[in-house]
Amino acid sequence: MAAALADGSTTSVELTQAHLDRIAEVDGAVHAFLHVDPEGALAAAARSDERRAEGATASALDGVPIAVKDVLATEGLPTTCGSRILEGWIPPYDATVVARIKAAGLPILGKTNMDEFAMGSSTEHSAYGPTHNPWDLDRIPGGSGGGSAAAVAAFEAPLALGTDTGGSIRQPGAVTGTVGVKPTYGAVSRYGLVALANSLDQVGPVTRTVLDAALLQELVGGHDPRDSTSVDQPVGGLVEAARRGADGDMSGVRVGVITELAGDGWQPGVMARFRESLDLLVDAGAEVVEVSCPHFVHALAAYYLILPAEASSNLAKFDAMRYGLRVLPEGIDSPSAEEVMRATRDAGFGDEVKRRIILGTYALSSGYYDAYYGQAGKVRTLIARDFDAAFEDVDVLASPTAPTTAFRLGEKLDDPLAMYLNDLATIPANLAGVPGISVPSGLADEDQLPAGFQILAPALADERCYRVGAALETLLEKKWGGPILDRAPGLEGAAR
Ligand code: GLN
Repeated sequence: MAAALADGSTTSVELTQAHLDRIAEVDGAVHAFLHVDPEGALAAAARSDERRAEGATASALDGVPIAVKDVLATEGLPTTCGSRILEGWIPPYDATVVARIKAAGLPILGKTNMDEFAMGSSTEHSAYGPTHNPWDLDRIPGGSGGGSAAAVAAFEAPLALGTDTGGSIRQPGAVTGTVGVKPTYGAVSRYGLVALANSLDQVGPVTRTVLDAALLQELVGGHDPRDSTSVDQPVGGLVEAARRGADGDMSGVRVGVITELAGDGWQPGVMARFRESLDLLVDAGAEVVEVSCPHFVHALAAYYLILPAEASSNLAKFDAMRYGLRVLPEGIDSPSAEEVMRATRDAGFGDEVKRRIILGTYALSSGYYDAYYGQAGKVRTLIARDFDAAFEDVDVLASPTAPTTAFRLGEKLDDPLAMYLNDLATIPANLAGVPGISVPSGLADEDQLPAGFQILAPALADERCYRVGAALETLLEKKWGGPILDRAPGLEGAAR
């Protein structure tokens, strides 16, 4: 699209309108968006076309429209985080990543659906109803960023931004056949990202190709003085690495397959595509070895103490005074602040959010802090050391992104533990702060649904994810005779 804009064969207004038309046509069935902003998007597109006419484009992606996960603050546009408690809140400022895409000239189509406060793996915890997978509308699009992934997979948006605290970019990528990247912790600003768990959250790209993701991360990434955890050095060379990887030559690259992230409980079709992808990398010159990361088996347990602990503290700010919803308790004439807060939080938060607030508050309480939160922190250190040891031996680590393809809506909704298990393979990267990418590896034989291949690299070596990801994409396209995502099968028919 950027090339078509550059050679004058289309305009940003035309591109943006085409995506708005597609949204109008299919989003009733997909429900990827919580808010669509036709006026804002078209006005931004018109300004982009003016800049181009004057020969003053703002970036390589100037004029290409984008969708933004509803957890990122957008000035003048609703930001609900998928929660009733923020219904009607209009942020007075832009998240840094949003300010950067605006400055780069990308029209914002709208805000995408998500599990409430990014807690979930299916987008079913959104207070505004689930998103449907464009491959099969009865299935989940992953979560928490199922809206961004589905928008890209349904061709409603060419690019989207997501956030990944335990897998919410990569797992939706895997089950929708899209590319998703969790950058190195600190490589992309978190300013204006409504925090779920500050020490785990990262903003990242959701796209249809590895090169698209590299272009987008380069655009939104880089140091931000407004985020004290922002890395004060460039994490660059991403586009160059994606271009270099696209030649499919993997000679000299050592890939470690993580023993603990495969085997029993993994869907056979997902494992088959994973092993085939490894074979392709070997044929292209890579050396593949098995690597054990013994503490990864404890990652899920540690994550579900650290995340609720941080979340319970973050969500304390929704006190009925500062943002969004305020509910007055029934039958009390002049309620106290605490009574209003209780009624508001009771009505405004969903079950999963309440579950995690209770768990987190418990884990942080005096008497239990050392036994739970403190222990989880130690396990986190051991996981980071597993990564350090592994990367002494190999350039990148690999695993399937998620244990299964997209499951049916409703299938795991009443079983929190079954839901949490979807993130088994993605969570270690968040705990250690290292970057990861999910690239579509093909369709599982059983159900003809997409599977994902995850590539992890050392902190600040994001370019390795892009190089190996782009190579795998090239090799798979040769094998399958084209991209895996060239249509949205679940929408054929539904689209008209
Ligand atoms: N599914 C995971 C959770 O529920 C990850 C969420 C995320 O990355 N935001 O916590």
